[in-house]
Amino acid sequence: MGLPPHDPVFGGATLGPTDVRLAEDALARPDTWGDDAPLRRFESEFAAWSGARAARGFLGARVALSAAVQALGLKAGDEVILPGYTCIVVPNALKFAGVQPVYADIELETYGLDASRLEPHVTPRTKAILLHHLYGLVARDYEATVEFARARGLAVIEDCAQSSGAMLAGRKVGSRGDIAIHSLEKTKVMTTIMGGLATTSRADLAEGLATAQTAMPTPDAATVRQLLHSVTYYHARARHPHHPGLPALKAASGGGWTSTRPEELRGEAPAGYGQRLPAALAEIGRSQLRRVEGFNAHRRRHAARWDEWCDRRGYEKAQVAPGSVPVFLRYPVLVGAARKSDRSWGWQLGVKPGTWFEGELHPVRADLPHCPNARLAVEGCVNLPTLW
Ligand SMILES: *Cc1c(COP(=O)(O)O)cnc(C)c1O
Repeated sequence: MGLPPHDPVFGGATLGPTDVRLAEDALARPDTWGDDAPLRRFESEFAAWSGARAARGFLGARVALSAAVQALGLKAGDEVILPGYTCIVVPNALKFAGVQPVYADIELETYGLDASRLEPHVTPRTKAILLHHLYGLVARDYEATVEFARARGLAVIEDCAQSSGAMLAGRKVGSRGDIAIHSLEKTKVMTTIMGGLATTSRADLAEGLATAQTAMPTPDAATVRQLLHSVTYYHARARHPHHPGLPALKAASGGGWTSTRPEELRGEAPAGYGQRLPAALAEIGRSQLRRVEGFNAHRRRHAARWDEWCDRRGYEKAQVAPGSVPVFLRYPVLVGAARKSDRSWGWQLGVKPGTWFEGELHPVRADLPHCPNARLAVEGCVNLPTLW
């Protein structure tokens, strides 16, 4: 284990030569892209790994959330309580279905929902609570939030987009709620450049997810080609940042893949929103899944070094909920607003910190009156790389 790079690449860090070969194989065989069998295999392997009975693949965790909303039967006018420290694409998926996001504050230990602050947000229209596990940590109030929801007859959606594989008391995150979403976007625990899964152990919801997926189109051939070329490009960029062939690979991938489009930042659905995971990416997903425990063990080893670093510098270490095994997608440190905004501090740090979260609805700033802790996290939390 060397030192972290000064300018870490946060996209495609888990991609290896095997994934590049699979992408090249798929590019050479467009006649196979209509065969769903590899996708079904990937979905059942992912379900088994995550401790769920069923999984369905979509083009992004955000679309998996749209499918979850549909499977849960949420309707226009319903309300879902979620953390006021999230990604813009999360409330978007609710709003696109007419569902109202209601933001509740987070705690500053693991950046999850603060279970003690949920009650005032419950109304007769509340149908579900969406909790998340951020930075690869297990949320401090995970079980308390699930109990709160159960006691009131509310469904629980778990956003595991940053914590796939993390465990509490021997069970993976995503397995305590009714439905969970995972991300395969290029900066996540494992990647197919873009992708996501919804998982559930409830038979009725599994059927609902299948119905939602069946109704969605598969990305067109040009999009599939761009995604497959992006595997090669992001792998090269992460592994060989000074390679002279990089610009050509970037061009072949259509300039790289943009996960979130300008329309989404404005809260509008972009063209082509709501598609399923193309089967052409399934073998890459399977190859990533076979190696994901290794990636996560690696991240935990690097996190242990950031622990020592925090001790030496007098920062509060990232907090791990008792009984949990995190996956440390990033290593969050609450350094305070002065440090986070001081560019020279970034230099002293010796590594470029990640930008999660630049806004309450990342990357969008929002004024959420009941979420003072979310504001403190936006202004004062940086995150450090754990895989290089
Ligand atoms: C990345 C992310 C999402 C969205 O995942 P996509 O696969 O990019 O749609 C949702 N929630 C959180 C917390 C995320 O980090």
